[in-house]
Amino acid sequence: MYQILKYLAVIILLVAGAVWLADNPGSASLDWGGYRVEAPFSVLLIALILFGVICALLYRVWLFLRRTPGLIGESRRESRRRKGYLALTRGMVAVAAGDVNEAEKNAKQAENLLSDPPLTMLLSAQAAQLAGDETAAEKYFEAMAEKPEMAFLGLKGRLTQALKQNDKDTALSLARRAHKLSPKTDWANDTLFDLLVHKEQWTEAEALVRAALKNKLLQPSDANRRLALLLHEQAKIQGQDNNKLALKTARKALDLAPSFIPAGRHLAKILIQAKRLNKAEETLEELWAKAPQAPIVNQYLSIRPAENDILAIPKVERLANFNTTHEESAFARAEAALKAKLWGEARKYLEPFLAAPSIRVCRLMAELEEEENQDMAKSREWLRKTSSATPDPVWVCQSCGNMVNDWSPLCSKCQSFDSLEWHIPPSVLHLEKAPTAKGSTTTLPATTGASRQEVTQGVDVAPPGE
Ligand SMILES: [Zn+2]
Repeated sequence: MYQILKYLAVIILLVAGAVWLADNPGSASLDWGGYRVEAPFSVLLIALILFGVICALLYRVWLFLRRTPGLIGESRRESRRRKGYLALTRGMVAVAAGDVNEAEKNAKQAENLLSDPPLTMLLSAQAAQLAGDETAAEKYFEAMAEKPEMAFLGLKGRLTQALKQNDKDTALSLARRAHKLSPKTDWANDTLFDLLVHKEQWTEAEALVRAALKNKLLQPSDANRRLALLLHEQAKIQGQDNNKLALKTARKALDLAPSFIPAGRHLAKILIQAKRLNKAEETLEELWAKAPQAPIVNQYLSIRPAENDILAIPKVERLANFNTTHEESAFARAEAALKAKLWGEARKYLEPFLAAPSIRVCRLMAELEEEENQDMAKSREWLRKTSSATPDPVWVCQSCGNMVNDWSPLCSKCQSFDSLEWHIPPSVLHLEKAPTAKGSTTTLPATTGASRQEVTQGVDVAPPGE
């Protein structure tokens, strides 16, 4: 409605103008440079209107021409960007496929086409690594580490390089930076932890585990186990000049992992040094109840040494009663009886194990036959049986199968943390299927078969009573 009224108004005005011009024809004249132009006023008015329209059109054309170079430039930039991203994508695919030439070619293309260094830097670094040029890769990773948005990736790249070169000091300092940047990342946490324990930085590793627990990167049970080991290692160092502090730390370690034999034995050792003999005995008795192990017997007997082997028997009996049905208790009783020359007693405790004797049982039987009956033939027969008997428990690395008599936080062969467990070497369980390989070795991965000879030669099994 409004539009119609507007048009009507315009038409009325135009008609009125035309009528007014017809009523007042008039004329206009122009004198310039000796020329004289005369025209009716209406013609002049139409000429002026036409002039205005032409000027407006020319102004539009000028505006269009002025914008054109910008539009052309934008289109070229867009095309470069598209090609750049395409090269980037192809480069990433080539890196994943291990195609060195394609990766390098596309990395260079992407670098030239994209004015976004952080994006192309990672591809360039990976392409350089693929080509075996670690120095060039290091340069890119370092440049990335300096850019806040890429720092973590750059540090990770450098750290991986340092680990590959076995440069543990550089790796540790990079891992600390990476963890500071991103403390809730599993990878940063695990890598820093590994490096700290390999550098024996127990206190820092403890703080890291506590932070990881807070950040929910570790389950409470895993964190407690790790903390127990780290505190145990700290207690060993503290004991060198501060027995009181060492005692406190060792107790904390055992509280976190009550079945952790090395922590229990170490706490008992500190208590013995502090002349707290009742507490030391109590600690070993509690440990025997949870995780009996042959060497605990000797440590227990050393707290208040008996005057003779007969008087040692009640002590062994007392300890064994804390876990009376466990075979370690029977072996401890048998050994004590043997030392006290109570042959019948010793035989009574060994009898239940004679059907499938372990190496320790064979040795004790050999000793018994020799001592009690002077029967050297039978004694030799038992010693011969050790070669085919079940090995006794030792510390076995769950990662590489390495077997050792003394526990340590890191496996001496594969350097795994907390990989040692006290039990019968697992490979023995598969002996029936094992090939009869020759030669002795100290390493028997659980998945690899081995002859009994290898198993028994593989580790220097502690003699009974040690
Ligand atoms: Zn190992």
